[in-house]
Amino acid sequence: MAVLDQLTSQQAIDLENKYGAHNYHPLPVVLSKGEGVYVWDVEGKKYYDFLSAYSAVNQGHCHPKIVGAMVNQAQTLTLTSRAFYNDMLGKYEKFATEYFGFDKLLPMNTGAEAVETALKICRKWAYEVKGIEENEAQIVVCKNNFHGRTTTIISFSNDPVARKNFGPFTEGFIKVEYDNLQALEEALENNDNIAGFMAEPIQGEAGVYVPSEGYLAAAKALCEKHNVLFIADEVQTGIARTGQLLAVNHEDVQPDILILGKALSGGAYPVSAVLANDDIMNVIKPGNHGSTFGGNPVAAAVAIAALEVVKDEKLAENAERLGKIFREELAEFAKENELVTLVRGKGLLNAVVINDTEESETAWNICLKLRDNGLLAKPTHGNIIRFAPPLVMNEEQLRDCINIIKKTITEFKK
Ligand SMILES: *Cc1c(COP(=O)(O)O)cnc(C)c1O
Repeated sequence: MAVLDQLTSQQAIDLENKYGAHNYHPLPVVLSKGEGVYVWDVEGKKYYDFLSAYSAVNQGHCHPKIVGAMVNQAQTLTLTSRAFYNDMLGKYEKFATEYFGFDKLLPMNTGAEAVETALKICRKWAYEVKGIEENEAQIVVCKNNFHGRTTTIISFSNDPVARKNFGPFTEGFIKVEYDNLQALEEALENNDNIAGFMAEPIQGEAGVYVPSEGYLAAAKALCEKHNVLFIADEVQTGIARTGQLLAVNHEDVQPDILILGKALSGGAYPVSAVLANDDIMNVIKPGNHGSTFGGNPVAAAVAIAALEVVKDEKLAENAERLGKIFREELAEFAKENELVTLVRGKGLLNAVVINDTEESETAWNICLKLRDNGLLAKPTHGNIIRFAPPLVMNEEQLRDCINIIKKTITEFKK
């Protein structure tokens, strides 16, 4: 077999199993092409993508404007490192800070790196601006969070699978229950060493947990009261996914530190960023932090294009409108189908809870049947299926998908 011969699905799966580390458990489907809301497997079967690479592909697969910007920049200049200036980074920083309403941006590549960056900025601010004694700062996070996979980030995860045998862990984090203002207030009160509070505006990986209305605004107010930075991890919820540009916009909250990734590039390239105003971002001085690829010209060109697409194509408005239809239709369906407990979410970030135990295979097996019927989705946490299509979907396609989902679950036999 020559390296570039067209593989069958089974051959591709066998190669990954034999030569790749087993750090994922993919649904058995091998994709080789994508366009808009669709992906195709190597045998040519077409699917609706209802994961969107964990909400990285909000703008749709291979968006011509984003790919065009990428190809064009890749043929001109790809990487200078930050040892020198390049003519794209400043343009991107101006564009993105005005777009999101912050003074400054710090460019990174992956979501986890951006989270790490935010934590470092928060700690430095705590020592140099708030006046906490060195090495004493603590950051409050939420139970069942997902912020990435680095050693520091898993230090404050409570997922045993993500943590087991990866210790020792980084200190300085306090976990409180998500969507519980009293727990947050208790953590902030009588503790002068709290530097920040970091949360996902909707807990995505945990199973699309939407907090009570008003939680984010009240949490931000508590942070202000205690001179603590409110850090929003919008890597998954940001960039129009939940029906607003940012999920915090639903409650008119401006975070002190904003973390973006995933759809910042429309899934074309790894691009992440941390945004903050000068009083916070200026604690970072030359040599304090960096990344060889962070802020490279291709990333800058891709991110500008990806953000333009979001506004040009009114993706937030579309996500808001289609999300309502999706939840209405599936909530109605849940009443008559005993396999579906409930549907929840915001915009086009939604989850359907399957009426079975967390350990059961039911949700996985439903996803296999959905695949057979031309729709790709994946369970998170056993019995929860996340449904997050590209935001360029139209109503006719969405209704087609709702029919596939209803039909598949109706015909499903355990
Ligand atoms: C995916 C995700 C991350 C990590 O992003 P990577 O690019 O996988 O490192 C961080 N936070 C949230 C909320 C995410 O959904």
